[in-house]
Amino acid sequence: MVIVLERNIREDHKSRVRSFLETHGFKVREIIGEEETIFGAVGHLTLDLREVEVLPGVARVIPISKPYKLASRELQKHDSVVKVGPVRIGGRRIAVIAGPCAVEGREAILESAHQVRKSGAVMLRGGAYKPRTSPYAFQGLGVEGLRYLKEAGEATGMPIVSEIVSPELLDVMIEYVDLLQVGARNMQNFEMLKAIGNRNVPVMLKRGPCATIEEWLMAAEYLLAHGAENVILCERGIRTFETYTRNSLDISSIPVIKKLSHLPIMVDPSHATGIRAKVLPVALGAVAAGADGLVVEVHPNPDEALSDGPQSLYPDQFERLMRDIQALAPVVEKEVLRLPEKSERVPEFTRAGDADTQGLMIAFQGERGAYSEQALLRYFHHDDVVPLPLPDFRSVFEAVLSGRSRYGVIPLENSLAGSIHENFDLMLQFPDIHIVGEVKIRIIHSLIGTPGATIEGIRRVYSHPQGLAQCARFLDEQTGWERVPFYDTAGSVAFVAEKGDPSIAAIANAEAATVYKMQVLKEGIETNPQNYTRFAVVARLEDAHVDRPNKASIVFDTPDTPGALLSCMAVLAARNLNLKKLESRPILGKPWQYMFYLDIELPADPAPFEQAMKELADKAQELRLLGKYRAG
Ligand code: PEP
Ligand code: MN
Repeated sequence: MVIVLERNIREDHKSRVRSFLETHGFKVREIIGEEETIFGAVGHLTLDLREVEVLPGVARVIPISKPYKLASRELQKHDSVVKVGPVRIGGRRIAVIAGPCAVEGREAILESAHQVRKSGAVMLRGGAYKPRTSPYAFQGLGVEGLRYLKEAGEATGMPIVSEIVSPELLDVMIEYVDLLQVGARNMQNFEMLKAIGNRNVPVMLKRGPCATIEEWLMAAEYLLAHGAENVILCERGIRTFETYTRNSLDISSIPVIKKLSHLPIMVDPSHATGIRAKVLPVALGAVAAGADGLVVEVHPNPDEALSDGPQSLYPDQFERLMRDIQALAPVVEKEVLRLPEKSERVPEFTRAGDADTQGLMIAFQGERGAYSEQALLRYFHHDDVVPLPLPDFRSVFEAVLSGRSRYGVIPLENSLAGSIHENFDLMLQFPDIHIVGEVKIRIIHSLIGTPGATIEGIRRVYSHPQGLAQCARFLDEQTGWERVPFYDTAGSVAFVAEKGDPSIAAIANAEAATVYKMQVLKEGIETNPQNYTRFAVVARLEDAHVDRPNKASIVFDTPDTPGALLSCMAVLAARNLNLKKLESRPILGKPWQYMFYLDIELPADPAPFEQAMKELADKAQELRLLGKYRAG
């Protein structure tokens, strides 16, 4: 059962509720959510729920109807985020685990690790104990394999995952491995599940080839009930009558699990298909269906792999997969998780001036729940991020410059509405602020009203003029609605919330509805779904250390002579530097004179860009590097 506690429950009342439940044989788990704190109590129901309901400090008691309790969404509404070293799985991230089926040797796993890390994997996989169908097939290197895997993980900064095949191996596995994998064949090895649960180590539970979703969740319940706090599910295909593929990927299990459970779900497209050429489309399908990540078999030379070669990707196929996932991520409103480069500094705490806030403070323009805040949370995966809402873009630059916040997040352009020129101008006015990162999000507008309001009852709608314009088709279908421009999308939600009038609504990001305890009346009302905004992450010059940047933004102005722009562009062309964007802006105070903003793709070798900048400095009247960063 779920016991919802009163918001300001006294500590002694809380302990009393807990000990009451424990003396009645329940295991109690406290879950602190954004909205409320609850106790999840699991055990044989031997008492009348009303006995719990009358205890001081208890707001209400809800029975859990499902046979799995701790795994159930009824117990916990928000998505669980599983922590494995620096990696977080779940929520708005897409995490990709990659590596060979089996650890085949020291050199081989090191080579694999470097390859998959370079393409963007955040964790390294590799079996040391292989459950093979044939006793004559390669059985794995055992503890020697674990040792090599650990070395490869450490060399590349990636946590490692490997399969446990027997409870006797628990000690040795825990010594080496960051995330234990329970393989499909062992999904219902209940003694092993209990033993793993008792040690409370992160675990990924693969779905058994013949297991129903409920059986799978019941297996997860074994882990949770015995104390595991970090459990990930992994769909890897089930046995059906189809024999073309090795298994049949049950793609619908992803949204089903999302509805039934709060646990993250990864997908293994390699074992699901068994065919290399099918891995990429199936992997993209899984991400599109809402998977929290992928587990992919990649081998430096699949034709010589000791196990599962036919389903292992070549390294360049994996690189392609990562790029395609990157392109897909904004569509599903997620961010592909990446590990920070070794020298990339992501400070843990704010500057001295913010000592009272134990977090990384990041400034954005707008009210809480604004799209900029959404972008910021997507970019910084830290749990201790503190968004700092500010009234205008200039304040964001000032907050970063003064050290009040370490980073700022500012929109640069929207795929439909074009550039946000004010921010380009501010970049020029604040020469000590640099671009250090980039994040793109898909803009999905929702109609938001007061709790209990209905679309039929709406008469007036508020939003930023862009928000109103981008939802014109939906608004045109509503007869007699007055459209009222407002300074900010999230601000319009705050305004409607304050008025509490069910005949008015706002257009904003659905998350703004949560912030202001409002109701989403209709989601996805934008006319064009291809609506993306690109944001820059800015920092002070001294904090602008980005390892292996792949994009640069520069600005320059040219003399007022024929061919001046062409001769600047020729400098880039001569060095084979690829231009991603070119835009001109009037120079403030100099009518009819223009600056040029350029985004340039950076090759791995920094020399051509550096030489180009030197040469451009001679040709242009003024030249500034706005930042070198990794494109989002
Ligand atoms: C594996 O991941 O290498 C493996 C054996 O997978 P499964 O348990 O899904 O067959
Ligand atoms: Mn395999």
